[in-house]
Amino acid sequence: MAIAEWRQKLIKGEVSSLELVDEHFKRIKKVDDKLHAFLFVNEEHARAKALELDNARSSGVELPPLAGIPVAIKDNLCTKGIKTTCSSKMLENFVSPYESTVTDRLWKAGALLVGKTNLDEFAMGSSTETSAFGATLNPWKSNRVPGGSSGGSAAAVAAGLCIASLGSDTGGSIRQPASFCGVVGLKPTYGRVSRWGLVAFASSLDQVGPFTSNVSDAAELLQVIAGQDPKDSTCLDHSVPDFSEFISHPIKGTRIGLIKECFDQKGLSKEVKESVLKAAKQLESLGAEISEVSCPRFNDGIATYYVIAPSEASANLARYDGVKYGARFQEKDSLSEMTALTRAKGFGNEVQRRILIGTYALSAGYVDAYYKKAQQVRTLICRDFQKAFEQVDFLLTPTSPTTAFESGAHENDPLAMYLSDLLTIPANLAGLPAISVPCGFDGLGLPIGCQLIGNVLEEPRLLQVAYQYEQEAQIMSMQPKGDFVPS
Ligand code: GLN
Repeated sequence: MAIAEWRQKLIKGEVSSLELVDEHFKRIKKVDDKLHAFLFVNEEHARAKALELDNARSSGVELPPLAGIPVAIKDNLCTKGIKTTCSSKMLENFVSPYESTVTDRLWKAGALLVGKTNLDEFAMGSSTETSAFGATLNPWKSNRVPGGSSGGSAAAVAAGLCIASLGSDTGGSIRQPASFCGVVGLKPTYGRVSRWGLVAFASSLDQVGPFTSNVSDAAELLQVIAGQDPKDSTCLDHSVPDFSEFISHPIKGTRIGLIKECFDQKGLSKEVKESVLKAAKQLESLGAEISEVSCPRFNDGIATYYVIAPSEASANLARYDGVKYGARFQEKDSLSEMTALTRAKGFGNEVQRRILIGTYALSAGYVDAYYKKAQQVRTLICRDFQKAFEQVDFLLTPTSPTTAFESGAHENDPLAMYLSDLLTIPANLAGLPAISVPCGFDGLGLPIGCQLIGNVLEEPRLLQVAYQYEQEAQIMSMQPKGDFVPS
């Protein structure tokens, strides 16, 4: 059921906020011991808030748009007075003294915090297996990963543990888990949403966005979290349009390009390819004009990203030195030994690997060969997109080359893990908005997602195309049985 429908039920008194959150906590108790979408559950506080809202409602107060809607938050977004761990031992006991802008906006809009969700440590990963506090399972098949890094947020929505959640997307961490878990995931235009209070991974790529079970809910969440923020100088000074206004308008004449380079991929599964091409046909039946376009450097995105993202990460994570932030591990008295031990014990392997790659790429002897070169390729990737957008309005690709892989499948092969973001990374490098929408199931009953990419600040029409497709395809009406998915 869409948030708009819940809102009507709440206003009419057909359901109370307290009943609604209790339903979700009941499900959390039933499945989350195994699923492990949450690191922290906020039951007492959410129930008290729900009661407040119910009282206000019955005394005739008009309530804000998300009043009583249970949401979950990725645990790399700061929540005042509640731990924000980034799934890292480094921040295991960190309680933020301030609230992130996006969560602050959600609470002001009446949303209720159900809990903080699991992620790959510091959002580095594609499977939620690098969490220092244990992996999250895929809600459809428990021997599969939910994707990552926002796997907890995606799994929580798919398993019916909340109505919506927030994640962060640096190279695909909203869209890839959305596709693995069969939910909608939106990465907004870089700068559309404030990063204040999002623990920084790669600052020129990070962006916060929603996970929801349908496209219109994604528009509602974006409506609340988007908009300029004086606390984040990279946040665009751009007025927030009504993202739902045109969502139900027909898309006849919209030009949609299939990126040739994505469909020639060696690692692209046949079932994924067929599902996405079927989605293109369905868009065509809605009046969209489908054509093929070329983004010649699309596949260089991954190599570019794995220089730029670790470089920025190595700078951002330098603050965790055992003095200024986070945990301190100490055996000896010297400062350098304390710092080294803190970083060796506080960070897991993947985070250490990224710091090493980034420090190397930025070092005096290599900065021109690696970092500068990567920035140049990034510019070429942006230009490819701008050329493509001279021919078409939106681009369509698979979200990930495969459906959810087995837990542990890429444990000793970071490169194979990195490749699962091949198709999502270019939109981050170019700062473009992109959405993953379910477009089918594979033979094992695992969801498949397709990705629509728009030009900068084109979210209103991007959501419109995604919504029209969703309405036409009705993918979720054919959902197979899932281990933790409510039928
Ligand atoms: N999986 C990618 C990485 O490991 C993207 C992560 C993200 O978007 N936060 O860096």
